[in-house]
Amino acid sequence: MSASLTILGTAGGGPIPHRAKSGLLLRVDDRLSLIDCGGGIYQRFVDSGHDFNALDRVFISHTHPDHMSDLPVIVQAIYLTGRSTPFEIYVPEEFTEPCRNLLSSTYLFPDRFPCPLKIIGYGDRFTFRRDFELTAIANSHLAKFRTRETGTGMVRGECFSFAFSLAGKWVLYSSDIGSLDDLIPHWDGCECVILEAAHIDWSRFWVEAKVACVGEFIITHFLSEAQAFQIQQNARAHDISNLQTAHDGMTKSF
Ligand SMILES: [Zn+2]
Repeated sequence: MSASLTILGTAGGGPIPHRAKSGLLLRVDDRLSLIDCGGGIYQRFVDSGHDFNALDRVFISHTHPDHMSDLPVIVQAIYLTGRSTPFEIYVPEEFTEPCRNLLSSTYLFPDRFPCPLKIIGYGDRFTFRRDFELTAIANSHLAKFRTRETGTGMVRGECFSFAFSLAGKWVLYSSDIGSLDDLIPHWDGCECVILEAAHIDWSRFWVEAKVACVGEFIITHFLSEAQAFQIQQNARAHDISNLQTAHDGMTKSF
């Protein structure tokens, strides 16, 4: 088995030139899956020469636009390829119906799609086992919305990190988190932790990274280029050698 992981986009929520928003591309042999698809991920996928017929599914960590705004245009691309094999969209449970409505509002009707288009709600510790293994780990990024009436029916404040195994190596993708407490219990033993920089208590991170049993930290989802540069400087200052900052298209093979 040959597997790889490509960080298609590395920008945080704000505007940063030349970086797309959050999105990971997982390849196992010749089959592809996406985790998150913020703005620019569709174009990164196309520019990389990948075929939408090889893309089997997308997992959405949470519904902030910088993690899922390209979903409709990806579904549209799948429609236009005339695909016949199923395409799966894994979403936080509370977004299952709103996702169906969102796609229908763009005239991409899930029930009248040329191929089976499955919108699958998942929750904490949902485990996917097929060409690779993936487990969803609930985090507290949107916890403040659990007590707030949003008027959308989405009252659970669901956001998930993902642990997944490629060719026997475990990778942990933080997505946005509430605090490092969401992540630290899960990172020991991982070959790679892909850490989104936007919500990190850095003074704590440097202490925890020192004692973590993690092969490598790859930092992404930057607020600015200056932040990416500062993280590199701070890693050196704290004598952390197993950390690098990501760029769009960074690929790790397994
Ligand atoms: Zn977010």
